[in-house]
Amino acid sequence: EAIELAELAKRMGIKANEMIAKLMTMGVMATVNQTIDFETATLVAAEFDFEVEKASFEEDVLLQVETDNQDKGRMIKTPPVVTIMGHVDHGKTSLLDVIRKSKITSGEAGGITQHIGAYNVDTPKGGRITFLDTPGHAAFTAMRSRGAKVTDIVILVVAADDGVMPQTIEAINHSKAAGVPVVVAVNKMDKPGADPDRILRELAELDLLAEEWGGDVIFVRVSAKTGEGIDDLLEMVLLQSEVLELKANPDRNASGYVVESRLDTGRGAVATVLVKQGTLRDGDAIVCGLHSGKIRAMIDDLGNRIEEAGPSTPAEIVGLTGVPDAGDEFVAVATDKDAKQIANHRMQKQRAKELAKKSRANLEKMFENLGSEEIKELKLIVKADVQGSIEALNDSLKDLAKEEVDIKIIHSGVGTINESDVGLASVSDAIIIGFNVRPTPQIRKMAKDENVDMRFYDIIYDVINDIKAALDGMMPSTF
Ligand code: GDP
Repeated sequence: EAIELAELAKRMGIKANEMIAKLMTMGVMATVNQTIDFETATLVAAEFDFEVEKASFEEDVLLQVETDNQDKGRMIKTPPVVTIMGHVDHGKTSLLDVIRKSKITSGEAGGITQHIGAYNVDTPKGGRITFLDTPGHAAFTAMRSRGAKVTDIVILVVAADDGVMPQTIEAINHSKAAGVPVVVAVNKMDKPGADPDRILRELAELDLLAEEWGGDVIFVRVSAKTGEGIDDLLEMVLLQSEVLELKANPDRNASGYVVESRLDTGRGAVATVLVKQGTLRDGDAIVCGLHSGKIRAMIDDLGNRIEEAGPSTPAEIVGLTGVPDAGDEFVAVATDKDAKQIANHRMQKQRAKELAKKSRANLEKMFENLGSEEIKELKLIVKADVQGSIEALNDSLKDLAKEEVDIKIIHSGVGTINESDVGLASVSDAIIIGFNVRPTPQIRKMAKDENVDMRFYDIIYDVINDIKAALDGMMPSTF
């Protein structure tokens, strides 16, 4: 790997002469047209507070130079990106709708919002929030499984007349696993049977203790139907985001994530991206997942053509050679040619990877790795037919934890193994234990595709024995 000195200097925004001078002080004699190796590039870049990243392919001469030094350059505060999660019918879609409508009535141009997968809202007090328009944790997990950390805050919706339900717990565990803070929206306050205190109590039992009860979780009582509490909810989200100190540099080359994508008969591949860093501009060359392209048009959440999109701004883009997946990262690069080259290389690597069949968490593998001190924690998801079994399993499994290896049950629940469990296992490298429950063929297939290890038992003793054997490094290879 090497890069031309002039090119490196250009990407860092300094004069080639300055770089030559700096290299000289480091005992390296170089000329403008000379190529310098990765090591030297890293050293000299560090002198200017830059970090050099080796681009992800070997034959490459494109070194990605990033101003990741956070106090370098202009940093601006960015709006938090919010995903709404919660049990089915608790009001996720209604909340997204009422929030979106408040945007229009608050005087913004246009009239009809466009569904592009994400939208911005300006709150009455002047803050801005970005909402991901696909509620629920399926999308959230799909993105995480690609390594995308898109969501900054989760709004957990719980219906005041219904209480904590299985998907409420799933949502909490997904947020926890992702390390994303939760703001609770106690919804349907207009209903006669609304009992918000019950929600506070039930969530307290799940370690979400409300501020009003001395904890640190913000609870807001709302009604998606009457609009009660919605402004308050938005303000509280902003308050929560203050703590996170979300910042980005709008002057860098743009990068971010795909939140939605599709093939449009007229326009070809269409993707909604959320810019995380830098500013994306019409005409930019980008690499996006396994695809590349030059942006031919950008549209905002109101359907307007836009020329540029800064940090936390969602934009629908047209011009990619193929349809990327939600959660894929995009990066703006210098030229179309660069973009194509990187995409081609990724495509090749992807094929190689599929051939090699990646292996993810698998109990035997995990314990092979234990010696290497890589894994200190065995993560489990426990699903069972009745609550009693879950409690019994949780207790016995926790007792097995050793000094060297901790056993962490990241999620447990009554019911069959579902998509959410497999998704969570996949992104967290956890193993699923099914006790007196069996998955559907679809779920089995999903687990296989994601290389998630699922094990089924009918006797607690067998579960304990297997895990114990594994912990002792005596895992039988088949059973
Ligand atoms: P989701 O499945 O979580 O997206 O829930 P929806 O938004 O589809 O809402 C489920 C049902 O609850 C719908 O019939 C909504 O009209 C109703 N609903 C949602 N929020 C409220 C609310 O605040 N008050 C009342 N009374 N009904 C609501």
